[in-house]
Amino acid sequence: MAEALQDDLVALRKEGLFCPAGDFFIDPWQPVERAVITHAHADHARPGHARYLAAASGEKVLRARLGQVTLDTLDYGEPITHRGVRITFFPAGHVLGSAQVRLEASGATWVASGDYKTAGAGLGGREQDPTCAPFEPVRCDVFITESTFGLPIYRWPRQSVLMGEINQWWRDNARSGRASVLFCYALGKAQRVIAALAQDIGAIVCHGAVQNLNAVYRESGIALPDTHLVQDVAARDLARAIVIAPPSAQASTWLKRFGEYSDAFASGWMQLRGTRRRRGVDRGFVLSDHADWDGLRSAIAETGARRVIVTHGQVAPLVRALREEGIDAQAFETEFGNEEDIDAAADGKADAGDGPTSLG
Ligand SMILES: [Zn+2]
Ligand SMILES: [Zn+2]
Repeated sequence: MAEALQDDLVALRKEGLFCPAGDFFIDPWQPVERAVITHAHADHARPGHARYLAAASGEKVLRARLGQVTLDTLDYGEPITHRGVRITFFPAGHVLGSAQVRLEASGATWVASGDYKTAGAGLGGREQDPTCAPFEPVRCDVFITESTFGLPIYRWPRQSVLMGEINQWWRDNARSGRASVLFCYALGKAQRVIAALAQDIGAIVCHGAVQNLNAVYRESGIALPDTHLVQDVAARDLARAIVIAPPSAQASTWLKRFGEYSDAFASGWMQLRGTRRRRGVDRGFVLSDHADWDGLRSAIAETGARRVIVTHGQVAPLVRALREEGIDAQAFETEFGNEEDIDAAADGKADAGDGPTSLG
């Protein structure tokens, strides 16, 4: 990695992304004094920091994950100045409360994206994720971007098409008297799917890890249809139910009570040939809370940034593509995971693993 320039607003330290002028970190992976947190996923919001700052809409989710921490919040677009650095959050469109962090000092503007998804190709233009505020492009000189799905092969289908497919799969299973078990990440993905489920097929049954987060989403003002724990649903109704469970429930005895069921995964990784088969599920739905290749490219272009720093995911291909366009692109080695990894832990609290490589 190139030596950080003296007046860089963000530099890489062993604890994480560091703002020297403001003496704080962004999503640090080691305990620090002051942590600015982009969102509540486990690899970005870690326990052990003395003070936290995050977007207000994510406060309840963050507290549900981290417990009683010292947490200050800011509304999107409401700046705070700390040691001469102006900090402002903007929606990242990733999960409830997810934020990009804009830093302004000495005439320079930097934005750290955290994880994000755009309302472009991935969501089919105006189609929005109803469970969080939409991604907002922010002009800056330097953009620090994630790159979880930074390869041209990643192109998300339209959200409405995908949700239609999920509902059709559920309807077909219900007709043949089989429960539909859908594995997806418990924080964000699950609620996004639940918000789009049809209301005329059967009960929506959720694993406890998902149901807890549903409650936090509702408390945060996000409307979701009724969801139930399995013990609250009559046995005869389970054959028409859809079951939303975290990936780690796949091999658990918890699933036995659903009898003969059809199963599926919802993840961006489902775009990789063979992933569904290797996971041994009946269906794969290519549904991601990250930007796809076109989403990454358009988000970067809209910032107007002349310098781009690429963090976790498929870093090298994106750096290469940006350099070919004459953008000053570089990589930061971070310790963020690929949380859509279908091997992520049940409650999403464990580190998410190493993404596509773990799938071969
Ligand atoms: Zn995330
Ligand atoms: Zn991430």
